[in-house]
Formats: sequence, structure tokens, C-alpha cells
Amino acid sequence: MTGDFHVHTTFCDGQASPEEMVRAALARGMDAVGFSGHGRTAFDESWCMSEAGTAAYRAEIARLKKAYAGRIAVFCGVEQDMCSDAPTAGYDYVIGSVHYLRAGGEYLPVDESAALQRDAAARVFGGDIYAFAAAYYRQLASAQAATGCGVIGHFDIVAKFNEGGALFDEGDARYVNAWHDAADALLETGALFEINTGGIARGWRSVPYPAPPILDYLIARGARFLLSGDAHRPDGLRFGFDAWGAWARARGAEIVESPDFCIQ
Ligand SMILES: [Zn+2]
Ligand SMILES: [Zn+2]
Repeated sequence: MTGDFHVHTTFCDGQASPEEMVRAALARGMDAVGFSGHGRTAFDESWCMSEAGTAAYRAEIARLKKAYAGRIAVFCGVEQDMCSDAPTAGYDYVIGSVHYLRAGGEYLPVDESAALQRDAAARVFGGDIYAFAAAYYRQLASAQAATGCGVIGHFDIVAKFNEGGALFDEGDARYVNAWHDAADALLETGALFEINTGGIARGWRSVPYPAPPILDYLIARGARFLLSGDAHRPDGLRFGFDAWGAWARARGAEIVESPDFCIQ
């Protein structure tokens, strides 16, 4: 199956409608597209699906499923933030992600900007960016339990703004120990891990999530992976999958082409 199962639309923070994304997927010769609208986070609706929007999203994807049957398989998933309390029943699959830290009585955005990361570290973690990153991984460790997801989203998105070590040293033992603990906990769940090229498509990163040391650690412990474009517009669909898929396979990654949720 040549699909992409991490796809956003105008129902959340994407730039194209679901039908535009389906048409783009067909034009690219894809045979599956899975939508993963951001599950509603009531405390910040700036980029997730609203309550009414969630119902409309489900209805529209159901319509597209039928309208394009026989031409492309369409799936209705959700990217559930672990701070979301929106229900996940009825979706074809769930991607579990951490976009906020719950700390100091606040929801601190993890992947909005480097400035907000620095600000959160300064105000809530005594200026210690490693404590901020460790808190992220502590929360990520329970993302599967919190969301019931079958796929772990962008494992090290906390390093989104850290190209070239701009914010912290990813070789520092405090950082490494923190992601080791999260990886060990999530490996137990059997969930797939993304190899997510969205950060490259949008110019934040030179490598997919997760970074090579994390990818290698997961590979060595038997993880299975799903390539994800995290597409927010048509040209993000399957972004770099051929090159990065080959790169990851050469490191020993077992990449799932047709996830279990596709077998219906
Ligand atoms: Zn995400
Ligand atoms: Zn996403």
C-alpha cells in the first residue's frame, strides 16, 4: 500500500480540504490516504478541530470514503493530543502525540516556537531546558495509555527547534536518559512509531522524527515504524518517503506499509 496516514486539513490547521488532499493523493498515484485531524483540546482551539468541526470532519471523511471507493482507500483517523479529552471511539485509528506539557498549572506548547520553549523553561523549569525536555518525555511515556493510540506521533518533537543544537545538546546524558525512559515504556505497548518527515517538509529539521540515535535505539529493540508525512498541504503527502524510507531500512528499520487498521 502506498499511503500516508498522518494528514491534516482545513478542519484543523491544514491548508487544503479533505477532498483536495484525496485528489492530490490520487494524482500522486497513492492508493490510501488516512486523515488525522487534531483531536480537540478545549483549552486551546487555535489549531485543533472544534466540537462542531469534529462532527463535520467525520461526516466529510465518511462521504469521501464512499465517493472514492475503488479508486483510493480513505481512512478517518485522529491525531489525539494526550491533553485532549475528546472521545476517540469510532475513528479508524489514533495517533497519540504530545503538543503540550501539563506543568505549573498550565498547558505549555511544545512545538509552537523556540521562544515559547525558552519561556516555558525559564518560567516553569527554573531556566533548565533539559528539565523541560525531560518533562516532555515523562509525559510522552504515557501517551499510549492516555490515548489508546496504535501509532506514536513524532517522538522527539521537543527537538523541533534544535537543529544544530540551537537550544540544547542532544548528546547530554539528561536528554538521553529522558528519551530512553520514554522509549522503553512505549516499546512495551507494541504501538508503531512514526518516521515523520513533516519537520523536513516545513524546513525545521534535516532528518525525520525521531533523530537517528533514537531511531537506532528503537530499531535495536524491535520497534516497527510507519512513515508519516504529517502533511498540512498537498505537497506534504508522502514527503520524502522514498529516500527516507530507504535510509531507515538501511539502518534496519521494519516499516509497515499497510497498518493493521487498513485491514477492514
Ligand atoms: Zn502533531
Ligand atoms: Zn500532525
